[in-house]
Amino acid sequence: MDLQTAEQRIKELQNLLNQYGYEYYVLDKPSVPDAEYDQLMQELLKLEEEFPQLKTPDSPTQRVGGAILDMFEKVEHAIPMLSLGNAFNEQDLRDFDARVRKAVGDNVSYVCELKIDGLAVSLRYEDGLFVQGATRGDGTIGEDITANIRTINSVPLRLMEPVSIEVRGEAYMPKRSFETLNEARKERGEELFANPRNAAAGSLRQLDPKIAASRKLDTFLYAIGNPEAIGVAAHSEGLDYLDHLGFKTNKERRKCATIAEVLEYINSWTEKRPQLPYEIDGIVIKVDSFAQQAALGTTAKSPRWAIAYKFPAEEVVTTLFDIELSVGRTGVITPTAILEPVKVAGTTVQRASLHNEDLIREKDIKIGDKVVVKKAGDIIPEVVNVLADQRTGEEKDFHMPTHCPECESELVRLEGEVALRCINPKCPAQIREGLIHFVSRDAMNIDGLGEKVISQLFAEKLISDVADIYKLTREQLISLERMGEKSVSNLLEAIEASKANSLEKLLFGLGIRLVGAKAAKTLAQAFGTMDQLAAASKEELTAINEIGEKMADSIVNYFELEEAAELIEELKAVGVNMEYKGARPVTPEESDSVFAGKTVVLTGKLEQLSRNEAKEKIEALGGNVAGSVSKKTHLVVAGADAGSKLAKAQELGIEIWDEEKLLEELNK
Ligand code: NAD
Repeated sequence: MDLQTAEQRIKELQNLLNQYGYEYYVLDKPSVPDAEYDQLMQELLKLEEEFPQLKTPDSPTQRVGGAILDMFEKVEHAIPMLSLGNAFNEQDLRDFDARVRKAVGDNVSYVCELKIDGLAVSLRYEDGLFVQGATRGDGTIGEDITANIRTINSVPLRLMEPVSIEVRGEAYMPKRSFETLNEARKERGEELFANPRNAAAGSLRQLDPKIAASRKLDTFLYAIGNPEAIGVAAHSEGLDYLDHLGFKTNKERRKCATIAEVLEYINSWTEKRPQLPYEIDGIVIKVDSFAQQAALGTTAKSPRWAIAYKFPAEEVVTTLFDIELSVGRTGVITPTAILEPVKVAGTTVQRASLHNEDLIREKDIKIGDKVVVKKAGDIIPEVVNVLADQRTGEEKDFHMPTHCPECESELVRLEGEVALRCINPKCPAQIREGLIHFVSRDAMNIDGLGEKVISQLFAEKLISDVADIYKLTREQLISLERMGEKSVSNLLEAIEASKANSLEKLLFGLGIRLVGAKAAKTLAQAFGTMDQLAAASKEELTAINEIGEKMADSIVNYFELEEAAELIEELKAVGVNMEYKGARPVTPEESDSVFAGKTVVLTGKLEQLSRNEAKEKIEALGGNVAGSVSKKTHLVVAGADAGSKLAKAQELGIEIWDEEKLLEELNK
């Protein structure tokens, strides 16, 4: 990049970061996710490093936090309240460790703490009495929020000892309080807080302390302003002293002798983080010894003896390039967002389902938009919302087509459905998707026959229905792209082996409408063979516990089709097994166990059995294992860390067992 372009980009970044900082720190109302702010900040830091002559003292990289609100008295911090340098990956942490060791030698230990996502506050005590509470402000001058701080129950108004001390920590809003607050605001039609941090900041920066009092805030203290005066030599000792004085400190802190231990701490909290009752956005790593801290010193913005590791972003901003349409096995047309590839919570995301047209309208999504993306349940990418104020005017509206993108027949919207469907049974896309479904894991599970190979075979007209898979020859397969002798042999073996699958796999693979993997198993168990199932009447089908009217209709309709009968004959002819091979479940009448005829729900973590093992054992005794608790549940088995299902069972007065009791009864 040349100097002129760099200068322009730096100006642009500074303006953006100043605007976002103002919205975040002053208004407590961020307009972009933290990850976007962090990304822009990293870009600016890099540019300023490359072109130091362009770095100015008022750059956002050189300043702590934001401005202060005029409505509060100002408080000057005797010792500045700094920000923290950031680490985003293992390498950043190793670099930090190397810098520290280079400066103070190898005899270092670190204290790791959770990085609480709230706002930094400073509390001043004189002779043991609370006299002043302040925000961090711009690091030098903060806002006097004494009256609001007084309303927080965990802040001691009188200490255990009559000392004069300034302590620092995080004021935050627990997840529960945040949810309750936003629910109430929603009911009253008020604007919602974006996250607990902004809710906490917004609550403490109010002139009326009654508001703060109603918001259920809490604190964790993590530093002493002037530790030398107290006579402690290390940060960890300082924290113990804070405990002793009656402050609330965070108990999850850990002293680590090596960076490997630090990484282990980080990994374990990356996993356990969702279980905490408050939000954390990272881990803070601090050099323990105050003498070493002093030797390392600080920059204008942050100490050199500490670093904040930030968890991979869960919400990031990216560009929606296009909306692609796909035709599913059942003819449903699904729009999918094609995104500029971006890292979300650790993996790269480039597609996200948009489900249907209604959702696209509801979220007002246009092609070319900047969108916020997250992973729902931390797995499935989802477009959360559009950043409409970043539109350039070049964005294009999206309209669902009127005709199938594959076979061009007219699409229909079935009554009561939001989805558009192609109802042409000969639509090649549906047939191809049906073939892919047939070989998938829960169906015939044919290794080596994935989406790509099936699509190729289908395009080359080597297969047109599922029976054709069993007629494939070595010569045909070897002609495919990227297929060697060895993979062809393996594939033929896998196809051959799948012939022996138990009936439920075939049933599920046929893709009969409404028949999922679970229903397929129930049907296979109940009827034993394909012929018996094909001959079953609607009444015989609905007599089975889990089979409803609609599914029964769908099954009867399927077996009445001539094509279905032909296909099954063909499959029989090539040697595909048509019988159920698993154990038949014991009917309640045949069982004298306590589980006979009972609906059981398993929740929490079982130590001695896997969920599946427990389920099989209960079913073998004539019980039925269900996924959710309702009035029909007879019994809930609660393992460790059981959550909402246990609570629901308690509420409904359902009998609850622990794992020990379950084992005892299973072994009787
Ligand atoms: P920071 O959040 O990166 O780290 C410093 C802060 O961490 C401290 O001031 C303190 O409040 C907090 N902290 C929590 N637990 C701690 C512990 N155990 N020990 C020490 N400190 C602890 O720095 P910052 O300057 O407060 O904020 C920058 C961050 O704010 C950015 O990374 C960004 O994510 C966010 N931000 C977002 C926007 C936006 O528009 N979305 C704008 C500005 C800033």
